[in-house]
Amino acid sequence: MNNYHIETKCIQEGYQPKNGEPRVVPIAQSTTYKYDSSETVGKLFDLAEEGFFYTRLANPTVDAVEKKIAALEGGIGAMCTSSGQAATYIAVTNICSAGDHMISASTIYGGTMNLFAVTMKKLGIDVTFVDPDSSMEELQKEIRDNTKLIFAETIANPALVILDIEKFATLAHNNGIPLIIDNTFATPINCRPFEYGADIVIHSTSKYMDGHAVSLGGVIVDSGNFNWDNGKFPGLSTPDPSYHGMVYTEACGRAAYITKARVQLMRDIGATPSPNNAFLLNLGLETLHLRMERHCSNAQKVAEYLEKHEKITWVNYPGLKNNKYYDLANKYLPKGSCGVISFGVKGGREAAMKFMDNLKLAAIVVHVADARTSALHPASTTHRQLSDQQLVEAGITPDLIRMSIGIENIDDIIGDIKQSLASL
Ligand SMILES: *Cc1c(COP(=O)(O)O)cnc(C)c1O
Repeated sequence: MNNYHIETKCIQEGYQPKNGEPRVVPIAQSTTYKYDSSETVGKLFDLAEEGFFYTRLANPTVDAVEKKIAALEGGIGAMCTSSGQAATYIAVTNICSAGDHMISASTIYGGTMNLFAVTMKKLGIDVTFVDPDSSMEELQKEIRDNTKLIFAETIANPALVILDIEKFATLAHNNGIPLIIDNTFATPINCRPFEYGADIVIHSTSKYMDGHAVSLGGVIVDSGNFNWDNGKFPGLSTPDPSYHGMVYTEACGRAAYITKARVQLMRDIGATPSPNNAFLLNLGLETLHLRMERHCSNAQKVAEYLEKHEKITWVNYPGLKNNKYYDLANKYLPKGSCGVISFGVKGGREAAMKFMDNLKLAAIVVHVADARTSALHPASTTHRQLSDQQLVEAGITPDLIRMSIGIENIDDIIGDIKQSLASL
């Protein structure tokens, strides 16, 4: 399937039935797998033969989706998880443990921020947050001897900051450490971070990949390009006593990282996706390319409409020419960025709340990045405990509205916004 375009891979990758088998990947709703001899099972445990033995580690339905996502990102392997948070947690702790340090962009998803600043800290992993727009020299100063990775989002949720992936990949590789990218908002349709030097990609598949707001999930994809045998990652390059002395870099070659994540961390943590959710995720992936195109063209039109509206004070969307990240977006996301937009309404907090309540088509939900248009006013909901001053410090002004533009007819989406603004 290597020569096919990404649209074809969305549909065809991951599962190729043999003669007489189901056309669509079946839901293997089974925790375990039957074998005729103990010897075969032993070989599976030794990773000497491929096969399934327990769904916490691998399952045929999940496996098909993993192969599809690995192909979409251009990686050598992938592992699905029960949520995006689980993917981030496993991606980091696979190479970082107590006493280690990591760097993260400060513009990241709130849940990831808490995971790094609170939970990782409790585990003894020290995190330095950096402004992604800092210069190479400034960033280099934050690297320590025990720094094990750099983490950032292609398109930051919700700030919509576009990452200069090549700058961060160069910084990471100059220091013998990998760059891990959360590619949730861009999806591999709009950006494939491995092509710009990223080493590991993670996703919350709960967003565009699933696309219908039906199942939580995450995934870790391995480019296979990073050399883990450089002395900084003994967890990968020395014997693992918990897996009968396996040296991952020797036994698994380019797949060392993703194999360790599965046979060690997934084994121990068990943040496994259900086969049923993997089936739904696969359905979502089949139309990802079509949906992303429409999300982006709709969002572009909404952004341009809002920009000209007298009751709107500002609009943040990387596709607008006056946006700070317009050039970076053109470089890394030439097909479009995503369907998420933020803007301010004249009249501040009160007007913003009224605008929200007057929406008829767009629903007020906390979720983003699914087929339905939705809206959120953080100052009165997710961030309501903060004062106006604290809101500004967090980059969330009291008038800020975040809209996730869906794939409905654009005239209906703009019509809804228009009627709601008219009532202010
Ligand atoms: C939602 C989200 C996550 C967390 O994913 P869950 O599936 O909700 O656990 C991580 N990163 C980004 C960019 C997200 O939008």
